[in-house]
Amino acid sequence: MTQAIHPRSRKVRVLATLGPASSSPEMIERLFDAGADAFRINMSHGDQASKVPVIQAIRALEKKLGRPSTILADLQGPKLRVGKFAEGKVTLVTGHQFVLDRDPTPGDSTRVELPHREIFEAAQDGARLLLDDGKMVLRVISHGADQMTTIVEVGGTLSNSKGLNVPDMVLPMAALTEKDRSDLSFAVEQEVDWIALSFVQRPEDLMEARRLIGGKTALLAKIEKPSAIARLDEIVEQCDGVMVARGDLGVELPPQSVPPLQKRIVETARRMGRPVIVATQMLESMITSPSPTRAEVSDVATAVYDGADAIMLSAESAAGDWPIESVAMMNSIADAVERDPAHGDRVHFTVTKPDPTTADALAEAAKNIASTVSASAILCFTTSGSTARRIARERPSVPIVVLTPRIETARRLGLLWGVHAVHTRDVDSFEEMIAKAKRMVLRHRIAAAGDRVVVCAGVPFGTPGSTNVLHVVSLTGDELKNYNGGE
Ligand code: ATP
Ligand code: MG
Ligand code: MG
Repeated sequence: MTQAIHPRSRKVRVLATLGPASSSPEMIERLFDAGADAFRINMSHGDQASKVPVIQAIRALEKKLGRPSTILADLQGPKLRVGKFAEGKVTLVTGHQFVLDRDPTPGDSTRVELPHREIFEAAQDGARLLLDDGKMVLRVISHGADQMTTIVEVGGTLSNSKGLNVPDMVLPMAALTEKDRSDLSFAVEQEVDWIALSFVQRPEDLMEARRLIGGKTALLAKIEKPSAIARLDEIVEQCDGVMVARGDLGVELPPQSVPPLQKRIVETARRMGRPVIVATQMLESMITSPSPTRAEVSDVATAVYDGADAIMLSAESAAGDWPIESVAMMNSIADAVERDPAHGDRVHFTVTKPDPTTADALAEAAKNIASTVSASAILCFTTSGSTARRIARERPSVPIVVLTPRIETARRLGLLWGVHAVHTRDVDSFEEMIAKAKRMVLRHRIAAAGDRVVVCAGVPFGTPGSTNVLHVVSLTGDELKNYNGGE
């Protein structure tokens, strides 16, 4: 067997959030080169117009590299955020008073706008307000219809639009705000690949988003509410992917309950065949430092050993001082874990029994055959991507090369474990499929003379949901010699 020489043979995907530190075309390309496989755009920060050039830059890079790009637009959801400060940020001093009000004038160290009417109505004296994923704590000492005075219990630096959680209050807020509806139709118009819904609490929240999306993008559920945990299986069933959104999850619940939940969410998503992203604070100290803490490195490694599909950077790549270094570090950690001979066994610690369907029977068989004959890759022809998802769910030890005539499918698959999607013309016969499979593995340098690859397809060709063929292809020296570089 030859060594895998594909330049991006890593299985776990790296998702990098773009922001002020990383939105230029040059930075996006450098992030890609450092190991970012997919990009997240947070609709919470900046206006819609500011996202257009970012999306264009990602698609321009796709064209330049001839490799499908993946864009996830993250909707803010009913998240409470403070307004803006005249200086961009202020220091909150422990023991001092701080006022939240409804005045849009930029704030200072004594006050800031809180642009959410509901919270003033629900406020109670003694309630805690947690800022920026719980880093700072305020306690309400008096409140009225337009203003709340608080005491700073835990101080720190508060910058523009930081999130605010109110674990002690119940707020009547819709799953999709007016802003979310507008951002959702913007994201659909811009043809992003995934839309993430924040603060999902019930499966119904996803159904509404799905209606509005109308099949034009995939839908991801951010799990960050205790109520979502209570109905996890139903929520995972209703979406195309999930995110363990540890920032808000660790504020809504005590932080020590996050690790067991992370394991449970990853396990549930894997069992149900939905890609799962582990997110927030993965390399947090790299916002300001060029090297991470050992604990952060261990956290990233744990997510990779648990078999998550993707690991994510937030402020590290969006707004930190070391965006490239953060991506490069995440890439190196993932590489090191995947080179560990124990990696496969640890990933398979989570057992994902196949569903009693033809698709799962074939996916499992493809993995087993690839292992028995030491194949170099599993190749799969798919239109909708569903076959690729079921094969990825099996977590095979070899790359999954997905050939699809639909660019939308190729792009969406960019968040899936082990998948290398190629946008290419469809085939219409069995012979053509085999010939193309051979050309593709040579073109993408996945296999060499003497290697075998497992090919998975549906006959008749071009009929979605018809995967029913497994074929083992052997590459001969002649094929290698005669290969002319074409598709
Ligand atoms: P979420 O709950 O959706 O994760 P967040 O506020 O935590 O929201 P992240 O996307 O996780 O946002 O990014 C972390 C931080 O990076 C933000 O709080 C913000 O300070 C900064 N940031 C990210 N994207 C942008 C952007 N487009 N413009 C300005 N700042 C940004
Ligand atoms: Mg969040
Ligand atoms: Mg965040």
